[in-house]
Amino acid sequence: MKNMKCYTILVLSILFTGFNSVLTAQNYPFKLPELPYGYDALEPAVDARTMEIHYSKHHAAYVNNLNVALKGTRQADYSLEELMLYAGELNDVIRNNAGGHYNHSMFWNVLSLNSPFNGQSEIGKAVNETFGSLDSLKRLLSKAGATRFGSGWAWLYVTTDKKLAVCSSPNQDNPIMDVSPERGIPVLGIDVWEHAYYLKYQNKRGDYLATILNTINWETVNRNYMEALASPLLKIIEKESWTALNIFHEVMAETFHPSEEGNLKPIRERSGELLAKARLLQSGTIPPSFDTPEIKKSIDDLVKGAIALNQMVVKKADDKTISKKLGDLHDTFHTIQGLCRH
Ligand code: MN
Repeated sequence: MKNMKCYTILVLSILFTGFNSVLTAQNYPFKLPELPYGYDALEPAVDARTMEIHYSKHHAAYVNNLNVALKGTRQADYSLEELMLYAGELNDVIRNNAGGHYNHSMFWNVLSLNSPFNGQSEIGKAVNETFGSLDSLKRLLSKAGATRFGSGWAWLYVTTDKKLAVCSSPNQDNPIMDVSPERGIPVLGIDVWEHAYYLKYQNKRGDYLATILNTINWETVNRNYMEALASPLLKIIEKESWTALNIFHEVMAETFHPSEEGNLKPIRERSGELLAKARLLQSGTIPPSFDTPEIKKSIDDLVKGAIALNQMVVKKADDKTISKKLGDLHDTFHTIQGLCRH
């Protein structure tokens, strides 16, 4: 009965939140998801032996290595989504295996021999509008995959301004990661590691790409696309890639947190820098979904507060006064930034 209840909740959550959010909401210890078909289901495009090794050895190893690497670390509390959003702070073992788990979980689901492209679907309309045709998109994905030196992935992804774009990434990185130069939510990922094709295609990555791009489950890609457009993750990525905010945040964190411990030296040395970063934030472009009157006012308040704080520091005010002012500034900052991660 208990299992039945869990199962019902799982099915309902997949129905209502979609594949990507269910996946990114996963927590340690991570589990190898079931392959949605048999090893031979994609023959002859993907041979059964490659599928078996790829899933039961490679993907299983990513999951296993990820759990081993996370054990006892602070990042064991992170969801898969957070592991990717903050990949820059992870060691290479965690970063590569977390990416490997996410990327392969998506990969199995976006492949099918019989789910053709439909120009009337939401993804179909967006592909035609953005790239002109499915063939143009295939050419871009094929080029992205073929020109990725060494191991990596080719991606179709939704950008933070809700457009479709193509990119490639090295190793097991993906566009959710803060280390990626192209940011957004992937809706279709193509594995171009040799382990994905070598048994059947040997060194001919181009032949593999041509075949795999005709083996796409467009129904799933359409669902991924609809979900990405509505996903709160897109807004998080948009905020995380707001460079001026990150720069201000860094100086704020490095001055405010020591002050909480009674160490005022950092803010006394860097109040001018904090003000300069606040002005940079004020004069820069605000990402579209944060461009509201409330946020603009918060940024103006931040500059005013930083001016006042800097004057206090110049006039050598006492620790308590400076601490109080810095605390207020930190509160103002968090009306923009949300919960502090430092
Ligand atoms: Mn792979």
